[in-house]
Order: sequence, then structure tokens, then C-alpha cells
Amino acid sequence: MTKPNEMTIALAARALRARELTVRELWDACASAAHGENQELKAFLEIFDVDKAAIAAAQKRIDTEGEKAPLLCGIPLAVKNNILIEGKIASAASKMLENYRATYDATVIRKLRESGALFLGRANMDEFAMGSSTEHSAFGSTKNPHDTSRVPGGSSGGSAAAVAAHLAIAALGSDTGGSIRQPAAHTGIVGLKPTYGAVSRSGLIALGSSLDQIGPLAKTIEDARILYEAIRGEDSLDSTTVPDGLYPRHDIQSKMRIGVPRHLLSEGIDADVRAAFEDTLKQLVSAGHTLVDITLPMSAYALATYYIIMPAEVSTNLARLDGIRYGHAARGEALLDDYLLSRTEGFGEEARRRILLGTFVLSSGYIDAYYRKADAVRGVLRREYESAFKEADVIAFPTTPSPAFKFGEKSDPLSMYLEDIFTVTANLTGMPAVSVPMGSVEREGKHLPVGIHLTAPHQAEHALFTLGTAVEKLHTT
Ligand code: GLN
Repeated sequence: MTKPNEMTIALAARALRARELTVRELWDACASAAHGENQELKAFLEIFDVDKAAIAAAQKRIDTEGEKAPLLCGIPLAVKNNILIEGKIASAASKMLENYRATYDATVIRKLRESGALFLGRANMDEFAMGSSTEHSAFGSTKNPHDTSRVPGGSSGGSAAAVAAHLAIAALGSDTGGSIRQPAAHTGIVGLKPTYGAVSRSGLIALGSSLDQIGPLAKTIEDARILYEAIRGEDSLDSTTVPDGLYPRHDIQSKMRIGVPRHLLSEGIDADVRAAFEDTLKQLVSAGHTLVDITLPMSAYALATYYIIMPAEVSTNLARLDGIRYGHAARGEALLDDYLLSRTEGFGEEARRRILLGTFVLSSGYIDAYYRKADAVRGVLRREYESAFKEADVIAFPTTPSPAFKFGEKSDPLSMYLEDIFTVTANLTGMPAVSVPMGSVEREGKHLPVGIHLTAPHQAEHALFTLGTAVEKLHTT
């Protein structure tokens, strides 16, 4: 039998129902792997003590409801530390919120509790979810389980490493510009950013409110789908959540039309990543899917657009963390010193950089030149994708331009921002996107996973699951 902590949600759910495994055994397997590996990997900021009452309740539910019990009942999950769990610290990996304890559950946590899921610990992340490597955590970097001299990606690097190293069965992350998909690609797992508004943001510490979505990091598409189904839905606590059927239906056949924007793939991509991508496409064609050439000319401006809109929203969202209203509070001689000291001590370098950038692009002299232009580009990008989806069911490219990089390799902020070149557009357009493993590339004798990125029209997650499953089959058979 597969070791309990190495199981998928689907497999563990079957084993629990068949009484081959108890909820407590599953918890213990994950908790002991987590305690054993965390010193090295730093995937968790905290591993929670065993919650005997929750475990007993989950076991009882499985025993009495059997097949009718939710699949997530009794499944231990890692939760990115910007998602509130009542009574637990929610630091967003920042000194600013080091001692902040959540006073309520995020909507996704409430929903997961209702399914009987268990929470294993607070997953490490880049401070306030700004970054692509988890090197910006105020409490130490997470390592990539495939090669500990390399980053796991970010900002949900702790969630990704926990799942990839089999410390948790699956995890929640958040994605503002790629933070679920990019670490999923670097650690060889599946990461889904749902349609904007599909999942409630209530109880998620806000970063870029018009871009943020919570989503699953999981070992398989099937698991990602189980978690997504459990957390999605309209929520009166988040007015940006969308009702089912808001967008036109996107009917798909089992053989799909895959749109490939070749013009985006000509430069800046690692040759091995490109080869893995081409090989995956070739195999999808052999399996009966078709490729369609599409062009998305505005994509060239997506990264610049993101790095105007995102810091703008950051600068407003983080304004409340000033040591007076919220957050780390330092005291100087005068009130101004209180603000300066609190924010300088509380925020790390990247957070401060984005606050400054965002304040600049929103200032009265520059808002027309930067923010409003970026907002206009965002609209054009969305229309461009909408028209591409008339010819294609999904759009495919690699999730990242290169495999996981070494610690310190991208200390220049611009080189770090370039990591997000393929992922930011789905956040700007609000469309759902997934990263699915597409094999690995070899570096210094280590096999580093790489991912294929699939985007679908709004509310067409089903198209991502269908093609994602097809990609998975290529690499498991
Ligand atoms: N890497 C991107 C950034 O630093 C995305 C972050 C995210 O998705 N939370 O902005």
C-alpha cells in the first residue's frame, strides 16, 4: 500500500472508507513527515498540534456516512499563511503581522471545516505574497524538495513544497500574478488559479484585490478539482464572487483545440523547457487534440501592466498596517516617527519597494501616465483573449521560462519579476488557469520539474480539468 502521506486525496478517501486507514493514522503520517522534514525544507511556519476532537468527528462521519461523507473528510491540508484560521497566527510571513491571531475563519476555511478537512499547519510564503521564490519570507526561505539548493517558487512556496514532499495531502495557496501556478510548476504538482470571483476572498489578507484568488495546490488534477469544488461559490462576505452561469457556457469536446501563441515563445525561454513543451504538444496531437496558431499581441505589455496595477493595489491595501491602526507598532519621539519606525521595521525590502512604486503610479501627476494606461491595456488584453477563445478551447504555453533557480540567483528585482511573464495575464483578465507537470529537465544531475500552463475562458475550469487530465496521462503511462 502507498504510504498514507504519499496518497492523493482521492486515494486516501478510498482507503479511509475501506477501513484500510484511520483518520488518526493519516494525520500522524503527515504530521510526522512534516516534523521530520521541516527543519530542512521550512515549508511550514507552524505545524499544528493534533486536534483530537476534529479527528474523532471526521472518523465518526466516515464511519456513519460512508460513501456519502465528503471526499475531504479527514484529509490533512497545508494552508498558506495569508488565509485566516480562527485562533491561529496569520502573519503573511511578515514581521508586521508576526503576532496577529485571526479572529475568524476565512470563507474557504469555513467550507473546508464543513467538509471535515483537517488543517496541518501554516505554510511559509513570500511576505504578503510578493515574490516568486519564497525567499522574501521574514522567517526564512522554503527549499525545493527536488533540489534543496533551489527555490520552490513563490509566493505559495511553502504550500507547494509541503505537497511535493508529501508532508500534506494537498494545500491552499493564493495567486495574484502566478503564486499558485509557478511554485506548482517548480515542484512538480498541479496548481489552479480559479476564475476571478469563483472563490471567496473573505479572510484572505488582501494583496491586489482585483487580481487575488485562493486556489488548490495538489498532486493531481482530480485532487485539485475536489478542493476547488469544496471552496468555490458565491459568498455574501465577498461582493466580487460570481454566481454560476454568469459567463457564456464554453462547451468542449473530448478532443480539444489548443491555442498556441508561438510569437510569445521565440525568446527568453530555456531550451529544455521549450523542448518539454513542444514534446507535450506533440503527444497531445498524437492523442487526437489539435493545435491552433493564435496571436496575442498585447501580451508583450502584460508584465509591465501587472507591475503597475499590482503595486498600486498593494500600496492601498497595506496602508492600514501603520503601527497605529494595525500591525507591528514601534514608538518614536513624535507621531510621524511612530509611522516611519513601524513601517520600516515591519515591512521587508520587497514590500517597501512595491508600496513606493504603487504610491508613485497613483500620485496625481502620474496616474494618467501609468495607472490609467495600465488599466486600459488590461481591458484590451481581456478582449484579445476572448477573441482567441473563438478559435481555441484553451491556450497553452510553459508556466515558467526556466526551471527552479538557485537561492540568490534572482536578487535583481527585475529578473525576479520576469519569472511571472507567463502567469500574470490570467490574473489581469480574470480567467482561470492551471499548471500541470510536463516532465522534468536535468540540471547538475537533478531532475527539476517543469509545468505546462493552460488558460480557459471565465468559468470554464472544466476545460482545464479535461485537458489537464490528458496531459497527466502522457506522463503517467
Ligand atoms: N510573483 C508575483 C509577484 O511577486 C505574483 C505574486 C502572487 O501571485 N501572489 O507579484
